[in-house]
Amino acid sequence: MPMNSKIRFSKKRAWSHDLPISFLMQQGVENPGVLSLAAGLVDQNSLPVELTKKSFDHLFSNPKTARAALQYGTTAGSLSLRSLLLSHVSNLEEKSARELGMTVDNIIVTTGSQQYLSLLGEVLLDPGDICLVAAPTYFVFLGVLQGLGARIVSIETDEFGMRMDSLESTLGILESQGQLEKVKMIYLVSDYENPSGISLSQDRRGQVVEIAQSWSKQQKIFILEDLAYRELCYDGPVVPSIRSFDSTGETVILTQTFSKSFSPGLRVGFGVAPKEVCAAICDKKGNDDFGSTNMSQQVLATALRENFYYEHVKHLREVYREKRNYMLEAADTYFSNIPGVRWVHPNGGLYVWMTLPNNIETGFASPLFQKAIHEDKVMYVPGELCYATDQKLDFDKQPPIQKNHMRLTFGVQNHEGIQEGMKRLAKAVKSFI
Ligand code: PMP
Repeated sequence: MPMNSKIRFSKKRAWSHDLPISFLMQQGVENPGVLSLAAGLVDQNSLPVELTKKSFDHLFSNPKTARAALQYGTTAGSLSLRSLLLSHVSNLEEKSARELGMTVDNIIVTTGSQQYLSLLGEVLLDPGDICLVAAPTYFVFLGVLQGLGARIVSIETDEFGMRMDSLESTLGILESQGQLEKVKMIYLVSDYENPSGISLSQDRRGQVVEIAQSWSKQQKIFILEDLAYRELCYDGPVVPSIRSFDSTGETVILTQTFSKSFSPGLRVGFGVAPKEVCAAICDKKGNDDFGSTNMSQQVLATALRENFYYEHVKHLREVYREKRNYMLEAADTYFSNIPGVRWVHPNGGLYVWMTLPNNIETGFASPLFQKAIHEDKVMYVPGELCYATDQKLDFDKQPPIQKNHMRLTFGVQNHEGIQEGMKRLAKAVKSFI
Protein backbone atom coordinates (compact mmCIF):
# COMPACT_ATOMS: atom_id res chain seq x y z
CA MET A 1 0.00 0.00 0.00
CA PRO A 2 1.42 3.48 -0.82
CA MET A 3 2.61 5.32 2.32
CA ASN A 4 0.71 8.50 1.57
CA SER A 5 -2.63 6.78 1.05
CA LYS A 6 -5.42 8.47 2.97
CA ILE A 7 -7.66 5.49 2.58
CA ARG A 8 -8.47 3.98 5.96
CA PHE A 9 -8.85 0.32 5.18
CA SER A 10 -10.38 -2.06 7.69
CA LYS A 11 -8.27 -4.43 9.78
CA LYS A 12 -9.73 -7.30 7.80
CA ARG A 13 -8.29 -5.74 4.65
CA ALA A 14 -4.84 -5.65 6.21
CA TRP A 15 -5.13 -9.27 7.34
CA SER A 16 -5.92 -10.37 3.78
CA HIS A 17 -3.03 -8.48 2.25
CA ASP A 18 -0.63 -10.24 -0.13
CA LEU A 19 -2.33 -13.61 -0.23
CA PRO A 20 -0.38 -16.23 -2.23
CA ILE A 21 -3.38 -17.23 -4.36
CA SER A 22 -3.42 -13.77 -6.01
CA PHE A 23 0.33 -13.97 -6.65
CA LEU A 24 0.03 -17.43 -8.19
CA MET A 25 -2.84 -16.41 -10.48
CA GLN A 26 -0.83 -13.37 -11.53
CA GLN A 27 2.25 -15.47 -12.36
CA GLY A 28 0.20 -17.50 -14.81
CA VAL A 29 -0.90 -14.32 -16.59
CA GLU A 30 2.46 -12.52 -16.54
CA ASN A 31 4.50 -15.44 -17.79
CA PRO A 32 2.96 -16.75 -20.99
CA GLY A 33 4.63 -19.89 -22.29
CA VAL A 34 5.01 -21.22 -18.76
CA LEU A 35 3.62 -24.73 -18.34
CA SER A 36 1.59 -24.70 -15.17
CA LEU A 37 1.64 -27.74 -12.94
CA ALA A 38 0.37 -25.32 -10.29
CA ALA A 39 -3.11 -24.22 -11.28
CA GLY A 40 -5.84 -26.15 -9.47
CA LEU A 41 -7.98 -25.97 -12.63
CA VAL A 42 -9.74 -29.02 -13.97
CA ASP A 43 -9.09 -30.72 -17.31
CA GLN A 44 -10.25 -28.37 -20.07
CA ASN A 45 -11.08 -31.08 -22.59
CA SER A 46 -13.31 -33.11 -20.32
CA LEU A 47 -15.55 -30.24 -19.20
CA PRO A 48 -19.17 -31.42 -19.66
CA VAL A 49 -20.14 -29.21 -22.61
CA GLU A 50 -22.74 -31.52 -24.14
CA LEU A 51 -24.24 -32.63 -20.83
CA THR A 52 -24.55 -29.03 -19.62
CA LYS A 53 -26.22 -28.09 -22.90
CA LYS A 54 -28.62 -31.00 -22.43
CA SER A 55 -29.40 -29.77 -18.91
CA PHE A 56 -30.03 -26.24 -20.22
CA ASP A 57 -32.27 -27.60 -23.00
CA HIS A 58 -34.25 -29.60 -20.49
CA LEU A 59 -34.68 -26.58 -18.26
CA PHE A 60 -35.59 -24.19 -21.03
CA SER A 61 -37.93 -26.53 -22.91
CA ASN A 62 -40.51 -25.73 -20.23
CA PRO A 63 -41.35 -22.00 -19.80
CA LYS A 64 -42.25 -22.56 -16.15
CA THR A 65 -38.85 -24.04 -15.17
CA ALA A 66 -37.08 -21.54 -17.44
CA ARG A 67 -38.76 -18.59 -15.70
CA ALA A 68 -37.99 -20.05 -12.28
CA ALA A 69 -34.31 -20.32 -13.25
CA LEU A 70 -34.22 -16.70 -14.39
CA GLN A 71 -35.82 -15.44 -11.16
CA TYR A 72 -34.14 -14.75 -7.80
CA GLY A 73 -33.89 -17.87 -5.66
CA THR A 74 -33.83 -18.25 -1.89
CA THR A 75 -30.81 -17.56 0.33
CA ALA A 76 -30.38 -21.20 1.40
CA GLY A 77 -30.67 -22.39 -2.19
CA SER A 78 -33.23 -24.12 -4.39
CA LEU A 79 -35.33 -26.61 -2.43
CA SER A 80 -35.34 -29.09 -5.30
CA LEU A 81 -31.55 -28.95 -5.51
CA ARG A 82 -31.21 -29.34 -1.75
CA SER A 83 -33.46 -32.43 -1.84
CA LEU A 84 -31.27 -33.88 -4.58
CA LEU A 85 -28.18 -33.06 -2.52
CA LEU A 86 -29.61 -34.93 0.44
CA SER A 87 -29.97 -38.06 -1.72
CA HIS A 88 -26.54 -37.40 -3.25
CA VAL A 89 -24.82 -37.37 0.15
CA SER A 90 -26.84 -40.39 1.34
CA ASN A 91 -25.79 -42.38 -1.73
CA LEU A 92 -22.15 -41.42 -1.34
CA GLU A 93 -22.18 -42.43 2.32
CA GLU A 94 -24.39 -45.48 1.73
CA LYS A 95 -26.55 -44.39 4.66
CA SER A 96 -30.05 -42.95 4.76
CA ALA A 97 -30.51 -39.28 5.54
CA ARG A 98 -32.16 -40.42 8.78
CA GLU A 99 -29.12 -42.47 9.78
CA LEU A 100 -26.93 -39.47 8.99
CA GLY A 101 -29.19 -37.14 11.00
CA MET A 102 -29.65 -34.82 7.99
CA THR A 103 -32.62 -33.07 6.39
CA VAL A 104 -32.85 -30.45 3.63
CA ASP A 105 -32.94 -27.84 6.39
CA ASN A 106 -29.32 -28.65 7.24
CA ILE A 107 -28.15 -27.87 3.69
CA ILE A 108 -27.12 -24.51 2.26
CA VAL A 109 -26.07 -24.07 -1.36
CA THR A 110 -23.17 -21.68 -1.88
CA THR A 111 -21.12 -20.12 -4.66
CA GLY A 112 -18.53 -22.88 -4.73
CA SER A 113 -17.52 -24.52 -1.48
CA GLN A 114 -15.01 -21.70 -1.04
CA GLN A 115 -17.91 -19.43 -0.12
CA TYR A 116 -19.14 -21.98 2.42
CA LEU A 117 -15.67 -22.12 4.02
CA SER A 118 -15.56 -18.36 4.14
CA LEU A 119 -19.12 -17.88 5.49
CA LEU A 120 -18.58 -20.49 8.16
CA GLY A 121 -15.35 -18.79 9.21
CA GLU A 122 -17.20 -15.46 9.38
CA VAL A 123 -19.97 -16.75 11.63
CA LEU A 124 -17.81 -18.84 13.96
CA LEU A 125 -14.46 -17.11 14.31
CA ASP A 126 -13.56 -13.88 16.06
CA PRO A 127 -10.04 -12.49 15.77
CA GLY A 128 -7.80 -14.55 18.07
CA ASP A 129 -9.96 -17.68 17.91
CA ILE A 130 -8.12 -20.88 17.02
CA CYS A 131 -8.59 -23.32 14.16
CA LEU A 132 -6.59 -26.57 14.16
CA VAL A 133 -5.40 -27.73 10.75
CA ALA A 134 -3.22 -30.49 9.29
CA ALA A 135 0.34 -29.66 8.26
CA PRO A 136 0.20 -29.34 5.28
CA THR A 137 -3.32 -28.27 4.32
CA TYR A 138 -5.38 -26.36 1.70
CA PHE A 139 -3.58 -23.03 1.55
CA VAL A 140 -6.54 -20.95 0.35
CA PHE A 141 -8.39 -21.82 3.54
CA LEU A 142 -5.35 -20.67 5.51
CA GLY A 143 -5.85 -17.33 3.71
CA VAL A 144 -9.50 -17.24 4.82
CA LEU A 145 -8.48 -17.84 8.44
CA GLN A 146 -5.75 -15.25 8.23
CA GLY A 147 -8.21 -12.74 6.75
CA LEU A 148 -10.47 -13.20 9.76
CA GLY A 149 -7.63 -12.62 12.22
CA ALA A 150 -7.98 -16.20 13.46
CA ARG A 151 -5.00 -18.14 14.79
CA ILE A 152 -3.94 -21.31 13.03
CA VAL A 153 -2.41 -24.19 14.97
CA SER A 154 -0.90 -26.99 12.90
CA ILE A 155 -1.08 -30.67 13.72
CA GLU A 156 1.46 -33.25 12.54
CA THR A 157 0.51 -35.67 9.78
CA ASP A 158 1.84 -38.98 8.50
CA GLU A 159 0.86 -41.27 5.61
CA PHE A 160 -2.61 -41.76 7.19
CA GLY A 161 -3.37 -38.04 7.53
CA MET A 162 -3.64 -35.93 10.68
CA ARG A 163 -2.10 -37.69 13.69
CA MET A 164 -4.61 -38.14 16.47
CA ASP A 165 -1.93 -38.34 19.19
CA SER A 166 -0.63 -34.92 18.09
CA LEU A 167 -4.17 -33.55 18.00
CA GLU A 168 -4.82 -34.66 21.58
CA SER A 169 -1.47 -33.44 22.88
CA THR A 170 -2.00 -30.05 21.22
CA LEU A 171 -5.46 -29.75 22.78
CA GLY A 172 -3.87 -30.67 26.14
CA ILE A 173 -1.24 -27.96 25.81
CA LEU A 174 -3.81 -25.38 24.76
CA GLU A 175 -5.91 -26.33 27.80
CA SER A 176 -2.93 -26.01 30.14
CA GLN A 177 -2.30 -22.56 28.69
CA GLY A 178 -5.92 -21.54 29.30
CA GLN A 179 -6.54 -21.28 25.56
CA LEU A 180 -8.93 -24.20 25.03
CA GLU A 181 -11.96 -21.93 24.97
CA LYS A 182 -10.47 -20.23 21.92
CA VAL A 183 -10.45 -23.47 19.91
CA LYS A 184 -13.54 -23.46 17.71
CA MET A 185 -12.80 -25.90 14.93
CA ILE A 186 -10.63 -28.60 13.43
CA TYR A 187 -10.38 -28.37 9.62
CA LEU A 188 -9.76 -31.54 7.61
CA VAL A 189 -9.70 -32.35 3.90
CA SER A 190 -10.38 -36.04 4.41
CA ASP A 191 -10.10 -37.44 0.86
CA TYR A 192 -6.98 -37.05 -1.32
CA GLU A 193 -6.02 -33.87 0.48
CA ASN A 194 -5.03 -30.76 -1.38
CA PRO A 195 -1.98 -30.62 -1.36
CA SER A 196 -0.64 -33.96 -0.08
CA GLY A 197 -2.95 -36.41 -1.93
CA ILE A 198 -3.25 -38.34 1.35
CA SER A 199 -6.59 -39.54 2.78
CA LEU A 200 -7.40 -39.70 6.47
CA SER A 201 -7.57 -43.37 7.51
CA GLN A 202 -10.94 -44.83 8.48
CA ASP A 203 -9.89 -45.41 12.12
CA ARG A 204 -8.87 -41.80 12.48
CA ARG A 205 -12.20 -40.58 11.02
CA GLY A 206 -14.03 -42.20 13.92
CA GLN A 207 -11.40 -41.09 16.42
CA VAL A 208 -11.44 -37.43 15.44
CA VAL A 209 -15.20 -37.26 16.09
CA GLU A 210 -14.67 -38.81 19.55
CA ILE A 211 -11.82 -36.40 20.28
CA ALA A 212 -13.79 -33.32 19.21
CA GLN A 213 -16.76 -34.46 21.29
CA SER A 214 -14.75 -35.28 24.38
CA TRP A 215 -12.88 -31.95 24.26
CA SER A 216 -16.09 -29.97 23.78
CA LYS A 217 -16.39 -29.77 27.58
CA GLN A 218 -17.68 -26.27 28.08
CA GLN A 219 -17.91 -25.06 24.50
CA LYS A 220 -18.29 -26.80 21.21
CA ILE A 221 -15.35 -27.69 18.99
CA PHE A 222 -16.60 -28.35 15.46
CA ILE A 223 -14.93 -30.47 12.83
CA LEU A 224 -15.10 -28.84 9.40
CA GLU A 225 -14.81 -31.65 6.86
CA ASP A 226 -13.94 -30.47 3.34
CA LEU A 227 -14.90 -33.18 0.84
CA ALA A 228 -13.86 -31.30 -2.30
CA TYR A 229 -12.24 -34.36 -3.93
CA ARG A 230 -14.48 -37.13 -2.57
CA GLU A 231 -15.82 -38.21 -5.95
CA LEU A 232 -12.48 -38.14 -7.77
CA CYS A 233 -11.44 -41.61 -6.60
CA TYR A 234 -9.34 -43.75 -8.93
CA ASP A 235 -8.33 -46.77 -6.91
CA GLY A 236 -8.27 -48.10 -3.39
CA PRO A 237 -11.32 -48.25 -1.15
CA VAL A 238 -13.56 -45.22 -0.61
CA VAL A 239 -13.97 -44.90 3.14
CA PRO A 240 -16.94 -43.32 4.93
CA SER A 241 -16.68 -39.60 5.53
CA ILE A 242 -15.96 -38.20 9.01
CA ARG A 243 -19.53 -36.86 8.92
CA SER A 244 -20.91 -40.40 8.72
CA PHE A 245 -19.38 -41.14 12.14
CA ASP A 246 -21.42 -38.29 13.62
CA SER A 247 -24.99 -39.56 13.57
CA THR A 248 -26.30 -36.63 15.65
CA GLY A 249 -24.90 -34.18 13.08
CA GLU A 250 -23.92 -31.82 15.88
CA THR A 251 -20.12 -32.11 15.67
CA VAL A 252 -19.16 -32.35 11.99
CA ILE A 253 -19.91 -29.67 9.40
CA LEU A 254 -19.40 -30.97 5.89
CA THR A 255 -18.75 -29.05 2.70
CA GLN A 256 -18.58 -30.36 -0.86
CA THR A 257 -18.27 -28.89 -4.32
CA PHE A 258 -19.26 -29.64 -7.92
CA SER A 259 -16.24 -27.72 -9.20
CA LYS A 260 -13.93 -30.71 -9.47
CA SER A 261 -16.48 -33.37 -10.42
CA PHE A 262 -18.51 -31.32 -12.95
CA SER A 263 -17.76 -27.67 -13.65
CA PRO A 264 -16.08 -24.93 -11.62
CA GLY A 265 -17.69 -22.36 -13.92
CA LEU A 266 -21.12 -23.17 -12.49
CA ARG A 267 -19.80 -22.21 -9.03
CA VAL A 268 -22.00 -24.55 -7.05
CA GLY A 269 -20.99 -25.98 -3.70
CA PHE A 270 -22.86 -26.71 -0.51
CA GLY A 271 -22.51 -27.43 3.17
CA VAL A 272 -24.36 -29.48 5.76
CA ALA A 273 -24.44 -28.14 9.31
CA PRO A 274 -26.58 -28.10 12.48
CA LYS A 275 -29.63 -25.87 12.05
CA GLU A 276 -28.38 -23.10 14.34
CA VAL A 277 -25.22 -22.82 12.25
CA CYS A 278 -27.30 -22.84 9.04
CA ALA A 279 -29.37 -19.94 10.36
CA ALA A 280 -26.19 -17.95 11.08
CA ILE A 281 -24.76 -18.70 7.62
CA CYS A 282 -28.05 -17.74 5.94
CA ASP A 283 -28.14 -14.39 7.76
CA LYS A 284 -24.62 -13.61 6.60
CA LYS A 285 -25.22 -14.90 3.08
CA GLY A 286 -28.44 -12.89 2.84
CA ASN A 287 -26.42 -9.76 3.51
CA ASP A 288 -23.77 -10.80 1.00
CA ASP A 289 -25.72 -11.98 -2.06
CA PHE A 290 -29.38 -13.01 -1.29
CA GLY A 291 -28.45 -16.52 -2.47
CA SER A 292 -26.21 -18.12 -5.09
CA THR A 293 -26.91 -17.96 -8.82
CA ASN A 294 -30.26 -19.61 -9.32
CA MET A 295 -29.56 -20.50 -12.95
CA SER A 296 -26.48 -22.60 -12.06
CA GLN A 297 -28.39 -24.33 -9.29
CA GLN A 298 -31.21 -25.29 -11.67
CA VAL A 299 -28.76 -26.54 -14.30
CA LEU A 300 -27.00 -28.68 -11.74
CA ALA A 301 -30.30 -29.94 -10.31
CA THR A 302 -31.29 -31.04 -13.82
CA ALA A 303 -27.93 -32.74 -14.36
CA LEU A 304 -28.33 -34.63 -11.06
CA ARG A 305 -31.98 -35.54 -11.64
CA GLU A 306 -31.42 -36.74 -15.21
CA ASN A 307 -28.24 -38.65 -14.22
CA PHE A 308 -26.07 -36.56 -16.59
CA TYR A 309 -23.92 -35.69 -13.61
CA TYR A 310 -23.26 -39.30 -12.59
CA GLU A 311 -22.51 -40.25 -16.19
CA HIS A 312 -19.91 -37.48 -16.27
CA VAL A 313 -18.25 -38.42 -12.96
CA LYS A 314 -17.78 -41.99 -14.22
CA HIS A 315 -16.07 -40.69 -17.33
CA LEU A 316 -13.98 -38.18 -15.38
CA ARG A 317 -12.57 -40.85 -13.11
CA GLU A 318 -11.23 -42.66 -16.17
CA VAL A 319 -9.72 -39.47 -17.59
CA TYR A 320 -8.03 -38.48 -14.34
CA ARG A 321 -6.88 -41.98 -13.45
CA GLU A 322 -5.01 -42.03 -16.73
CA LYS A 323 -3.57 -38.54 -16.16
CA ARG A 324 -2.53 -39.44 -12.62
CA ASN A 325 -0.75 -42.53 -13.98
CA TYR A 326 0.86 -40.40 -16.64
CA MET A 327 2.25 -37.96 -14.11
CA LEU A 328 3.55 -40.77 -11.89
CA GLU A 329 5.24 -42.39 -14.89
CA ALA A 330 6.79 -39.06 -15.84
CA ALA A 331 7.98 -38.65 -12.24
CA ASP A 332 9.63 -42.09 -12.48
CA THR A 333 11.23 -41.21 -15.80
CA TYR A 334 12.61 -37.82 -14.88
CA PHE A 335 13.00 -37.76 -11.09
CA SER A 336 13.92 -41.28 -9.98
CA ASN A 337 17.60 -40.67 -10.72
CA ILE A 338 17.67 -37.45 -8.65
CA PRO A 339 18.88 -38.35 -5.14
CA GLY A 340 16.62 -37.49 -2.21
CA VAL A 341 13.48 -36.79 -4.27
CA ARG A 342 10.29 -38.69 -3.38
CA TRP A 343 6.58 -38.31 -4.06
CA VAL A 344 3.18 -39.51 -2.92
CA HIS A 345 1.09 -41.84 -5.13
CA PRO A 346 -2.45 -40.49 -4.62
CA ASN A 347 -5.52 -42.75 -4.95
CA GLY A 348 -7.64 -39.83 -6.09
CA GLY A 349 -7.87 -36.05 -6.33
CA LEU A 350 -5.68 -33.89 -8.54
CA TYR A 351 -2.31 -33.56 -6.82
CA VAL A 352 1.09 -35.18 -6.53
CA TRP A 353 3.09 -33.97 -3.51
CA MET A 354 6.81 -34.04 -4.18
CA THR A 355 9.55 -33.74 -1.56
CA LEU A 356 13.05 -32.53 -2.42
CA PRO A 357 16.20 -32.87 -0.32
CA ASN A 358 16.00 -30.67 2.83
CA ASN A 359 18.48 -28.12 1.52
CA ILE A 360 16.47 -27.25 -1.60
CA GLU A 361 13.87 -24.61 -0.89
CA THR A 362 10.89 -24.24 -3.22
CA GLY A 363 9.26 -20.91 -2.13
CA PHE A 364 8.40 -18.00 -4.47
CA ALA A 365 11.70 -16.25 -3.71
CA SER A 366 13.84 -19.40 -3.90
CA PRO A 367 16.39 -19.81 -6.69
CA LEU A 368 14.55 -22.98 -7.77
CA PHE A 369 11.17 -21.26 -8.24
CA GLN A 370 12.80 -18.34 -10.04
CA LYS A 371 14.78 -20.58 -12.37
CA ALA A 372 11.79 -22.86 -13.02
CA ILE A 373 9.47 -20.04 -13.97
CA HIS A 374 11.88 -17.75 -15.88
CA GLU A 375 14.33 -20.18 -17.52
CA ASP A 376 12.67 -23.58 -17.68
CA LYS A 377 9.15 -22.16 -18.06
CA VAL A 378 7.33 -24.39 -15.62
CA MET A 379 5.38 -23.56 -12.47
CA TYR A 380 4.37 -25.46 -9.31
CA VAL A 381 2.84 -24.49 -5.96
CA PRO A 382 5.52 -24.07 -3.27
CA GLY A 383 4.72 -26.47 -0.44
CA GLU A 384 5.51 -23.94 2.30
CA LEU A 385 2.28 -22.07 1.46
CA CYS A 386 0.39 -25.04 2.86
CA TYR A 387 1.93 -24.75 6.34
CA ALA A 388 0.96 -22.28 9.02
CA THR A 389 2.50 -22.40 12.42
CA ASP A 390 1.33 -20.14 15.23
CA GLN A 391 4.53 -18.54 16.45
CA LYS A 392 2.83 -17.16 19.57
CA LEU A 393 2.19 -20.59 20.96
CA ASP A 394 4.53 -21.48 23.72
CA PHE A 395 5.41 -25.06 22.81
CA ASP A 396 7.70 -26.76 20.37
CA LYS A 397 5.33 -29.54 19.35
CA GLN A 398 4.00 -27.67 16.33
CA PRO A 399 5.38 -29.09 13.12
CA PRO A 400 7.84 -26.68 11.54
CA ILE A 401 7.07 -25.02 8.22
CA GLN A 402 8.64 -27.30 5.63
CA LYS A 403 10.22 -25.56 2.70
CA ASN A 404 11.26 -28.38 0.41
CA HIS A 405 7.96 -29.56 -1.09
CA MET A 406 6.13 -28.89 -4.35
CA ARG A 407 2.45 -29.41 -5.11
CA LEU A 408 2.07 -30.63 -8.69
CA THR A 409 -1.24 -31.13 -10.42
CA PHE A 410 -2.18 -33.36 -13.33
CA GLY A 411 -5.57 -31.63 -13.58
CA VAL A 412 -5.10 -28.93 -16.16
CA GLN A 413 -2.39 -30.15 -18.57
CA ASN A 414 -2.93 -32.78 -21.25
CA HIS A 415 -0.56 -35.76 -21.55
CA GLU A 416 2.04 -33.83 -23.55
CA GLY A 417 1.86 -30.93 -21.08
CA ILE A 418 2.34 -33.25 -18.11
CA GLN A 419 5.28 -34.97 -19.78
CA GLU A 420 6.96 -31.73 -20.86
CA GLY A 421 6.23 -30.00 -17.53
CA MET A 422 7.81 -32.82 -15.51
CA LYS A 423 10.82 -32.87 -17.83
CA ARG A 424 11.37 -29.13 -17.41
CA LEU A 425 10.89 -29.31 -13.66
CA ALA A 426 13.40 -32.16 -13.29
CA LYS A 427 15.91 -30.10 -15.27
CA ALA A 428 15.40 -27.16 -12.90
CA VAL A 429 15.69 -29.35 -9.78
CA LYS A 430 18.82 -31.15 -11.06
CA SER A 431 20.69 -27.90 -11.35
CA PHE A 432 20.47 -27.48 -7.55
CA ILE A 433 21.65 -30.99 -6.63
N1 PMP B 1 -11.64 -27.02 -0.79
C1 PMP B 1 -10.55 -27.52 -1.37
C2 PMP B 1 -9.71 -28.51 -0.63
C3 PMP B 1 -10.19 -27.09 -2.65
O1 PMP B 1 -9.08 -27.58 -3.22
C4 PMP B 1 -11.00 -26.14 -3.33
C5 PMP B 1 -10.65 -25.62 -4.70
N2 PMP B 1 -9.36 -25.54 -5.01
C6 PMP B 1 -12.14 -25.66 -2.66
C7 PMP B 1 -12.43 -26.12 -1.40
C8 PMP B 1 -13.05 -24.62 -3.25
O2 PMP B 1 -13.51 -24.91 -4.51
P1 PMP B 1 -14.82 -24.25 -5.13
O3 PMP B 1 -15.04 -22.92 -4.49
O4 PMP B 1 -14.56 -24.15 -6.58
O5 PMP B 1 -15.93 -25.18 -4.79
